[in-house]
Amino acid sequence: MPVDPPARLAGETSPHGAGGQQRGAQRPPPRGSATSAVEVRRSARRSRTVSAYREGDRTIVLIPARMSEAEERRWVGVMLDKLAAQESKRVLGDAELTERAERLSAQYFDGRARPASVRWVTNQNTRWGSCTPAEGSIRLSHRLQGMPEYVVDYVLLHELAHLLVPGHGPRFWRLLEAYPRTERARGYLEGVAAGRLPHLPAERGE
Ligand SMILES: [Zn+2]
Repeated sequence: MPVDPPARLAGETSPHGAGGQQRGAQRPPPRGSATSAVEVRRSARRSRTVSAYREGDRTIVLIPARMSEAEERRWVGVMLDKLAAQESKRVLGDAELTERAERLSAQYFDGRARPASVRWVTNQNTRWGSCTPAEGSIRLSHRLQGMPEYVVDYVLLHELAHLLVPGHGPRFWRLLEAYPRTERARGYLEGVAAGRLPHLPAERGE
């Protein structure tokens, strides 16, 4: 999880154009979506605060003019994580989660995995997701909230695949090969868990 920055967060949305020297720098984001650009704006009027917001498909990060390049890189990363966390929490309720699972099933499994219910749970601290194939129910750990969408999608697909194939044999992983970001998502989750597997062997035929 991203660290809490001591500086201000997104929400301060209009200081650009408010004077001070500004320098726009286009660069790819250090993590997150590969399609959106990040623009860093330096302002002499900012002494300590950092803020960020979306503008169309771009992300604007406002930083103090005196910040070093290394600090800039670090803060851009922190702010992108923060924005992603806020958006992920805002966007996905249980209803959207179910819709998303249905879309993913249609896209990658020809709609063969049919979840009856998909919901967030807060009592799941050793697993990212779990499912009960007999009921078609899928539960995702609330700890996934705030992680990149492709990671949440991976966990959803993982549990959807279990509705079709129990266990983690070759047939199971062949199903997940259809999703291009399986390896990346597994790496992300392993990094977050610091050694804990993304999906521990579980009861209930996992
Ligand atoms: Zn599994």
